[in-house]
Amino acid sequence: MKIVVATHNKDKFKELYHGLKSLKIKLLSLDDFPEIGEIIEDGKTLEENALIKARTVNQLTSLPAISDDTGLFVDALNGDPGIYSARYAGENSTYLDNVNKMLHEMKNIPEGKRQAKFSTVMAYVDGKRELIAEGFVKGIISNKIKGIGGFGYDSIFYIRNKGKTFSEMSIEEKNLISHRSRAIDALKAKLASNLSNLNIEENA
Ligand code: IMP
Repeated sequence: MKIVVATHNKDKFKELYHGLKSLKIKLLSLDDFPEIGEIIEDGKTLEENALIKARTVNQLTSLPAISDDTGLFVDALNGDPGIYSARYAGENSTYLDNVNKMLHEMKNIPEGKRQAKFSTVMAYVDGKRELIAEGFVKGIISNKIKGIGGFGYDSIFYIRNKGKTFSEMSIEEKNLISHRSRAIDALKAKLASNLSNLNIEENA
């Protein structure tokens, strides 16, 4: 069975691939469908955006599609950048532009008030069924970049009980606790309850 992951983002695909590899499915990404251009994510919530992406890719490929929409919600910024995390520093901003803007906006926020939450909503759409799953992780926005791994805001998302940012973790360590891996696990549980219908098996 083939499922298309509705993303061109190689970093995201890598984490999703790791998380879903126990299932006997072949995962494709939008790089396998170059004719599909940018999908406009004009929803008002992570869930709406995840559904927009999965429905569009399912319709265009006639294959089941999985999507992920993620946001970083920072308490001291009243929940910003939230669903606008990819464009926080403006259209076409790079990961580093967004991180630098965040560090700038947070420069006067004291240590005890830097709580934030990463949330991921995943959608599975196959034309007959729509499944939604969520995952989140709480952390702290550090006051400078730490580590070189990962992507996006990983270098400033600090997990207190690990004493590290996501960028200082291996992909395996990040996957044990991340918003995305929790959403993947929740989605896998929902897929599992449809296993026979979906013709998806779990590797031993
Ligand atoms: P998207 O809209 O789901 O592609 O994600 C919005 C933005 O959140 C991305 O452009 C990244 O900057 C950031 N992001 C998503 N997932 C992660 C993650 O696991 N770590 C750090 N940043 C992330």
